[in-house]
Amino acid sequence: MAEPIVHDVVVLGAGSAGCVVAARASEDPHRSVLLVEAGPDYERTRETPFDLVNSHNNSYTDHDWGFTYQPTAIGRQQPFPRGRVTGGSSAVNTTIALRGMPEDYDGWAAAGNTEWAWEKVLPAFRRLERDLDFGDRPWHGDAGPISIRRYAWDELTAVHQAFLEASRELGYPDCPDANDPTSSGAGPHPMNKLGRLRVSTAVGYLAPARIRPNLEVRANTAVRRLLIENGRAVAAEVESGGEVSIIRGRLFVLCSGSLQSPAILMRSGVGARRDLEALGIEVARDVPAVGANLSDHPALAVVCRARDPSLLHADQPIVQTILRYTAPGSDQRNDLQIEAFSFSPRGEAALNSFAIAAVLEQSYGTGRLYLSSADPNVPPVVEPRFCEDARDVSRLAACFRDTMAFTQARAMAGMVAQVIFPDPRRSLDDESIADLLHRFAASGYHPCGTLKMGPASDPGAVVDQFGRCHAVEGLVVADASIMPSVPRANTNLTSIMIGEMVGEWLRARPGTYGL
Ligand SMILES: Cc1cc2nc3c(=O)[nH]c(=O)nc-3n(C[C@H](O)[C@H](O)[C@H](O)COP(=O)(O)OP(=O)(O)OC[C@H]3O[C@@H](n4cnc5c(N)ncnc54)[C@H](O)[C@@H]3O)c2cc1C
Repeated sequence: MAEPIVHDVVVLGAGSAGCVVAARASEDPHRSVLLVEAGPDYERTRETPFDLVNSHNNSYTDHDWGFTYQPTAIGRQQPFPRGRVTGGSSAVNTTIALRGMPEDYDGWAAAGNTEWAWEKVLPAFRRLERDLDFGDRPWHGDAGPISIRRYAWDELTAVHQAFLEASRELGYPDCPDANDPTSSGAGPHPMNKLGRLRVSTAVGYLAPARIRPNLEVRANTAVRRLLIENGRAVAAEVESGGEVSIIRGRLFVLCSGSLQSPAILMRSGVGARRDLEALGIEVARDVPAVGANLSDHPALAVVCRARDPSLLHADQPIVQTILRYTAPGSDQRNDLQIEAFSFSPRGEAALNSFAIAAVLEQSYGTGRLYLSSADPNVPPVVEPRFCEDARDVSRLAACFRDTMAFTQARAMAGMVAQVIFPDPRRSLDDESIADLLHRFAASGYHPCGTLKMGPASDPGAVVDQFGRCHAVEGLVVADASIMPSVPRANTNLTSIMIGEMVGEWLRARPGTYGL
């Protein structure tokens, strides 16, 4: 019988981070890299379905895992989209390409992850991008795989033009480049799109790497669990077309995202002993931190019926602009975001309204994720537990009130026939807004932190600062789940940066990973 092929590096999940890890690791022609993805793979843009090409709106259903979550203790269960395709969530998302604040990464470093200080991650942020507007600035890159640009004024929809005018009227500073590390205020969003084309990591990183003979992409192949022998990951058990098989490797890099990476680890017997035993999963390592520390951006939108619905249509780019600012009395710079949406609701319903969302960008509260079954086809239970920390409630409430002010600013008021959420008869005192938040705050779709990185002395840390799993040899995690806390920005660019950091270490100092 033929010996099973043993790949040098097996990357599990081809998302924002996974495509980058595979592309960077396979730059060494002597290193065999296998990239495994549960969803389909489209090798050429011409064959790629429209929902993935069309960055004007998110793709919510055609390439999605179908997960749900309960945002708050009393909130109702709702969909939690995650991309299931090469490119992962970067292939279905809004293409907002925003970096966190330097303080976010310096905070990670201060928690024992010194390789992630701002000055050390900045080269990775520069390497990943081709900034078409500000590529000549010292904090930007002009030659990376991810093209980034900002909408010019005359490309903005009526809602976004009015939003920027209202921002100025309300006294917020102009911000031409939200990725300038010193900036705050309102301006066009940096976005990783070229015209309509969404520049996912499948487009930017994977497409040019495909010609390499040492890189294999295996799509439509779902990881069920890792096989761990004597504390070492030796194989991945996968399912494809109803067949279960084994993939062997010298090193496994888990890149399945913050909801799936911890779920795969738990199914592999790495998690809280009591929880695993209750599901009949044999415990390989007792690591209670797996699935804990779920961080995200809670948000709540004001919805307005438009005076002139002919200004809205479903083919407009849904997001184009951004306001970043700091909550009163907060020591966390730019801990709030206000963001307009060209139209609302999503889906096929007649368009007669638009929305403006208040978003908390730095939250103290955390939630958790756990399994209700050992069956890999049963999604994890996701509980972000938004708005349980009083500091989160007071800042998001202040942001919501500031968001309401936009509907009354001269530049926008003329567009608003009626505010339809919240009910205009409702008083907007602290208690009343807190009640709205407890019932309706929802995810900004930025879950992270569920396999937190940190030193071995930190009982909450699952991986070290190189992504190496503390409890299991031969296993690295590189995706949004290793972020110690949510950065003050939409999380795609930081996930790509994580792929760059770990991918570059794999390429340039493989000994760190025993290769
Ligand atoms: C609808 C939506 C809109 C968003 N908008 C933005 C935005 O505009 N800007 C921004 O910065 N962020 C945005 N985000 C968040 C951002 O896209 C994510 O933070 C980022 O993509 C996470 O990267 P990741 O590599 O951790 O995971 P992902 O990109 O989700 O990658 C995980 C990959 O692993 C695969 N996988 C999972 N489980 C398995 C398994 N068992 N076997 C095999 N493969 C598996 C998945 O199919 C996927 O391809 C959005 C997210 C969504 C869903």
